[in-house]
Amino acid sequence: MQSAATVAQARALFDLLPRPLGFVPTMGALHDGHVQLVRAARARCAAVGVSVFVNPLQFGPNEDFARYPRDLEGDRKKLADAGVDALFVPGAAAMYPLGFTTFVDVGRLGSTFEGSARPSHFRGVATVMAKLLLVVRPDVLFLGQKDAQQTAVLRTMIRDLAFPVEVEVVPTIRERDGLAMSSRNSYLTAEQRAQAGSLYRALTVLRDTLAQGGVKHDAVAAARSTLSPLATLDYFDVVDAETFEPVDRLDGAAFVIGAARFGRTRLIDNVYVTADALGKPA
Ligand code: AMP
Repeated sequence: MQSAATVAQARALFDLLPRPLGFVPTMGALHDGHVQLVRAARARCAAVGVSVFVNPLQFGPNEDFARYPRDLEGDRKKLADAGVDALFVPGAAAMYPLGFTTFVDVGRLGSTFEGSARPSHFRGVATVMAKLLLVVRPDVLFLGQKDAQQTAVLRTMIRDLAFPVEVEVVPTIRERDGLAMSSRNSYLTAEQRAQAGSLYRALTVLRDTLAQGGVKHDAVAAARSTLSPLATLDYFDVVDAETFEPVDRLDGAAFVIGAARFGRTRLIDNVYVTADALGKPA
């Protein structure tokens, strides 16, 4: 596996790879969820590139940028074992050189839910991804359903700005108790970790209550009462899968979404539902 640290090195490296080229952007501290994205890329593409970059632009001033887990040596080994061809690990100066002033404004989709809890988060995500796509120039971009709103924001950016790349979304990989794998799970104390699976259970309760004909208000209440005592709820909702606008009835594809804090650690998760899956006409 070859590595690049600057934009020029990355261009030279990725340009030589066979096509189609699959690309998996990450912030490192890799887990099996990330590896699953690499596997999906491996299965579909002739070459696979990965980036590891803890993007300062997508963290708020009081967020966890400084203490975000970093394990570049461990990441390199996992990626080499998974058959990755090329790794891009830019420093902040490569992505945001002195005088950098251009940003991608993602509009309303970037200002609700995660965008409301984390102002300017999606602007940072979209800006770094625009640059990564222009440097790596992949044919297929692999994103996790785990970050469903991020995926919706990036799909919209790619459509609006006509980036020549396809998006493939990979289902969420979970721990045995349902907790979605996340680099941030390492922040949890043993007691918080023991209760963190309740976020996913609550989302499935919300989905199932809707499936049994319950109204959204009652379904959210049922989900809320499923959350463990250590959790502080940020939001539960049901949103259109593409626009992320809240919906009251399930007429098409939707996400049941939620965010909760366990101590200082904020976890997000979602469950994909279709009207079909709930046994209702689409
Ligand atoms: P991150 O390193 O957290 O920025 O995530 C990099 C990519 O991995 C994003 O597309 C995430 O949605 C995806 N991802 C993170 N966790 C999981 C998971 N548990 N299952 C599948 N994909 C994931």
